[in-house]
Amino acid sequence: MGLRQGLLAAGACAALLALSAWPAAARDLVIHAGRLIDGTGKAVRTEVSIVVHDDRIVSVESGYATPAGAEVIDLSGSTVLPGLIDDHIHITQSFHKGDPIHTAMTRTSFDDEIDATVNARNTLMAGFTSARDVGSQTGVIVALKRAINAGVIPGPRLWVAGTPLGPTGGHGDEANGLDPELEHPGWTSNLIDSPETARKTVRRLRREGVDLIKIMPSGGVMSIGDDPALQLMEDDEIKAVIETAHSLGMKVAAHAHGKQAIDHTISLGVDSIEHGTYADAESYKLFKARGTYLVPTMLVGSKVYEHAKTHPEDLNPSTAQKAMTVVPYMLKNLHNAYEAGVKIAFGTDTFGMSNHGENAQEFALLVGAGMPAMEAIKAATWNAADLIGDTNDVGSVQPGRFADIIAVTGDPLQDVRVLEKVQFVMKGGVVYKSGGQAVAR
Ligand SMILES: [Zn+2]
Repeated sequence: MGLRQGLLAAGACAALLALSAWPAAARDLVIHAGRLIDGTGKAVRTEVSIVVHDDRIVSVESGYATPAGAEVIDLSGSTVLPGLIDDHIHITQSFHKGDPIHTAMTRTSFDDEIDATVNARNTLMAGFTSARDVGSQTGVIVALKRAINAGVIPGPRLWVAGTPLGPTGGHGDEANGLDPELEHPGWTSNLIDSPETARKTVRRLRREGVDLIKIMPSGGVMSIGDDPALQLMEDDEIKAVIETAHSLGMKVAAHAHGKQAIDHTISLGVDSIEHGTYADAESYKLFKARGTYLVPTMLVGSKVYEHAKTHPEDLNPSTAQKAMTVVPYMLKNLHNAYEAGVKIAFGTDTFGMSNHGENAQEFALLVGAGMPAMEAIKAATWNAADLIGDTNDVGSVQPGRFADIIAVTGDPLQDVRVLEKVQFVMKGGVVYKSGGQAVAR
């Protein structure tokens, strides 16, 4: 029994009055930031004070101020940034060496949930205080999100899609390549082969607690038997998903490699294209006309490519071949898309091929493809928050936002890889990492 319940149970009126007079302990903090990259793309500021009350930023002031009663956090020797945001992760998934079909047949969603708690912690400790999960079993990811929000386990703020929707035989159909007589209830709940099933499935996912919808209009690389270059969902199915999701206030992210799937899905009003491998100049025009984001997922591309060359036996049949074909285009596409002026949001497609917590390795790949470091950082701050639809809460160090703040040693504009070694992590005014070490709590 907690203190409040104990007092209430005692029925003491005086105690009850006193109880209502107890304010929650307010916390005032001030961060002295040597250099501030505020996440909006504006020029770096030096010697700045970030004033925090409870879980929100109150003000950002020039010079090192110390308001009365505020605890000072000295980051005057560091570069301070907003907490980073990864808009494409699968935080409940891990990569397991060995035969992937054996793994798929023996692991349960309970195993995933246990792994997810560790993955969530590693992601937060790497400075990613927010993330969009675009494909995890619905019940598992919704429970993880609830546990993080309740403070039961440490992890990033999550916006979750649950199980991605796709057609029978497409990317996301777990029965692909298996004995056709095998059945599992979890393998069919995400299959949509008509506008009617599309509408109903979107509404059901909303009821189950998701924040956005993920669709698979093209084939993929890690799956068996489907072709990444082809559009596998019909336009009327894609349209039904997007209209129903938007009517419920949810955004839609589309996994799409092939040009036709990309162009059609953008024209039908999708909010982001994930991967976008075979986009061309015509596609980029559509991206810009509709304001659609590209989430380029360079990190997964480079890791899958590497693995396909060295350990093809750890991948599904045909995946190594598909990776060799698709990935070189994926890496070129970002360069062309950025040059064409397409809006880019940061996403790594972390599912264990790159480890959870290594998300910041994407920055060097973005910069290598021709994005200036400040633009790569903005992709993981303001733009990533904009794609989520919540720039009022996350993605910048500005008054009113959550006090989600990180710091690194050195200058990420000179060497973006310093973001791979985040030294300080605050989420909602609570410090999780300081001096490169986890803070016990
Ligand atoms: Zn993915």
